[in-house]
Amino acid sequence: MSPKKTKWSNWAKTEEIQPVTIKYPMTSEEIVAIVHGAKNEHKQIRVAGSGHSFTGVVPSKDILISLKDYSGLISVNVELKQATFKAGTTLKDAAIVLDQHELGFSNMGDIDVQTLAGAYSTGTHGSGILNQTLPNHTVSMKIITSNSQILLLDNPSDPKFKAAQVMIGALGIIIELTIQLETQYKLKMVSKKEKLDVCLENLEKYIHENRSFEFFWFPYTSTVQLKLANKTEEEIKHNRFTSYFSDIIMENKVWGVVCKFTKWFPRTAKYVSKLAGALISEGTKINLSHKIYVTPRLVRFTEMEYAMPMEQVKDVILALKRYIEREKIQVQFPVEVRFVKSDDIFLSPAYQQDSCYIAVHLYQGMNFEKYFKGCEQIFLQYGGRPHWGKIHYLTAKELAPKYPKWDSFQMIRREMDPEGIFMNDHLELIFND
Ligand SMILES: Cc1cc2nc3c(=O)[nH]c(=O)nc-3n(C[C@H](O)[C@H](O)[C@H](O)COP(=O)(O)OP(=O)(O)OC[C@H]3O[C@@H](n4cnc5c(N)ncnc54)[C@H](O)[C@@H]3O)c2cc1C
Repeated sequence: MSPKKTKWSNWAKTEEIQPVTIKYPMTSEEIVAIVHGAKNEHKQIRVAGSGHSFTGVVPSKDILISLKDYSGLISVNVELKQATFKAGTTLKDAAIVLDQHELGFSNMGDIDVQTLAGAYSTGTHGSGILNQTLPNHTVSMKIITSNSQILLLDNPSDPKFKAAQVMIGALGIIIELTIQLETQYKLKMVSKKEKLDVCLENLEKYIHENRSFEFFWFPYTSTVQLKLANKTEEEIKHNRFTSYFSDIIMENKVWGVVCKFTKWFPRTAKYVSKLAGALISEGTKINLSHKIYVTPRLVRFTEMEYAMPMEQVKDVILALKRYIEREKIQVQFPVEVRFVKSDDIFLSPAYQQDSCYIAVHLYQGMNFEKYFKGCEQIFLQYGGRPHWGKIHYLTAKELAPKYPKWDSFQMIRREMDPEGIFMNDHLELIFND
């Protein structure tokens, strides 16, 4: 374990701290010792996952821990389709090792570079109305608490379990996660271009007839890109054309250069959005589940995402469209729309409500405040709850009434960390009014 004084920043460069001491523990004993020391010295302690949250959920004034040296598979039970990982394991590494046991995640988001603990702690999700967010697959977890104890949570009806499934690092340090999995499966992903009004008319059908359905709407166009994925027994098939959309929009270096141009000349952004909409192509690809769910994101951006009640989807999309066009918002990235099944995790944005997650993005380094604040007004007007890892401007006062189990979570948080050693400035804002 070698502490280093260095700079830390998140992927989107919206959060930066310097200098900070980053500790890289290799054993649970070392993590316990760090927590013990922090408490004695009244120091703040936070864990950094892969830094893929856009909000200030990671920074620490005092000590930052990275679990990159505390990762890997601990055990697997093929019969129960469960596996236990050290908390710093990335989704990607987990998916690779699970595949060797013919197991796979029930669902994944757009990328796989997040750590398991980081992704779970912010309620990371994929798409599909029968799919819940990732932390719903927690079977058990081990957490190092502020009194340096290792707490095992393995009873889903224990309020502490429900609080810890999405806890943004506020209850302690997760060191192990046991996850419920599925027998590995192949997915066939169909990518289609469609008119926005046709997509909205057929929404129910797309949502209910596909394991995973999402769409991207391109501002200043009436074009959407549909992505429909279902289990298949067909042979693996790589179709170069089908990855065209993601190649062009999210992964491509050329796209990055074009976006940089829009940063210098923001008025060109809307033409870039139109170009992206025009470049969508159609096709099919078939592969193992984890290879279909995710795509690399080489072009960096900033993002806001809200979970909306299902019945509001159409109105929200149309309100966003009117807002972008009326205010002439310079945006080159599509609006992403996904669907998630309700759950009972205390701080899950999908708590007790099937949800439509709507995300807006802007190229990294562009001023996103006006765009995002305008979108947030719309999301709030229609009863949205923010994704914990993505930009939002809410504080405890606005967040509390959105979560029926808010007070239960707060009680558990105060009981588990009475001195607030796991708090930081961002958590003060969202938890303490
Ligand atoms: C390009 C990109 C694509 C994305 N796609 C999606 C998507 O498809 N769906 C979606 O829902 N989200 C998505 N996200 C958001 C991302 O999944 C979340 O923000 C996630 O939390 C990032 O994981 P991380 O490992 O980087 O965690 P970090 O951002 O580093 O940390 C997140 C939180 O977890 C806490 N934490 C980390 N490890 C531990 C631990 N061991 N114990 C306790 N607390 C811990 C941190 O302190 C922090 O509060 C995306 C983000 C980016 C940048």
